[in-house]
Amino acid sequence: MSSDRVLLEVRNLTVDYVGDNSIARAVDGIDFDIREGEAFGLAGESGCGKSTVAFALARLTRLPGLVSGGEVKLDGEDVLKFDKARLKAYRWREVSFVFQSAMNALNPVIPISEQIIDVIETHEPNLGKEGARKRAVELFELIGIPPARLDEYSHQFSGGMRQRICIAIALALKPRLIIMDEPTTALDVVVQRDIIEQIVELKNRLGFSVLFITHDLGLMIEFCDRIGVMYSGELVEVAPSGSILTNPQHPYTKALGNSFPPLTGPRVRLEGISGTPPRLTDLPVGCRFAARCPYAMPVCREQAPALRFHPEHQSEAACHLLN
Ligand code: SF4
Repeated sequence: MSSDRVLLEVRNLTVDYVGDNSIARAVDGIDFDIREGEAFGLAGESGCGKSTVAFALARLTRLPGLVSGGEVKLDGEDVLKFDKARLKAYRWREVSFVFQSAMNALNPVIPISEQIIDVIETHEPNLGKEGARKRAVELFELIGIPPARLDEYSHQFSGGMRQRICIAIALALKPRLIIMDEPTTALDVVVQRDIIEQIVELKNRLGFSVLFITHDLGLMIEFCDRIGVMYSGELVEVAPSGSILTNPQHPYTKALGNSFPPLTGPRVRLEGISGTPPRLTDLPVGCRFAARCPYAMPVCREQAPALRFHPEHQSEAACHLLN
């Protein structure tokens, strides 16, 4: 259950990829909050900047990527200004991560127990070896894998189990926020559902928040409380997940919804979105969706619409049609 208390505040976050002769603005001044206990989703086409946001929040942006502006505040402290020592405490203890390829990051020649214990001992040395092993046993129980298998190697587990183990490692230090970037994409749909149900159950039991990124809008709607839709590095809509498909405000959100096959009801022809997003090195003036938008007006090509709260829909959207 999410509360109204804001855990993470993202303000004017800007990330560039710097080339020899050009700068690609992958994330352009976005604002959003993640509340305590909330699952917040980021949706959008490939290349819209969702994973770049995740890496920036985790302070994992590496050259040629560069966080060139903004603030990411956790309880009022700016994460982007953390020194090495503060960053060590922030990562895993306050914010942890599960990435798409996380299960491949498990070391194949070290037993799983040692890999989990290593994370715990590094951050909580006072716990000692025995205490860390006890925590590892609890974590295996939490993710539904018999603790007797703790000393096995990663190749002895299925893909779904390996991803569960990565979730256990992410939970090892009881973080307040877990960033999950395509955490189930490499798995088949049945295992995917299983893992999502388990994450929901753990989230409700332990109370952590989640930033959830996936290209699967259906899965995101089921799992998340609110969803932010990104287009060309900008947030164009933020709405409760229950209304993102049934009452979308932004034409891009509408088009994105029409690109997904409905799971129930009659078969419908999928519309897709014609055209391609603008080049990030050559962004247009005005609305970035204008070239693909069926409702584009002259003003759309002259002025960029701002993300505004629309109380009648309880959502934020950036579109001149709504002004
Ligand atoms: Fe379409 Fe204009 Fe709205 Fe952009 S601002 S989404 S071009 S109507």
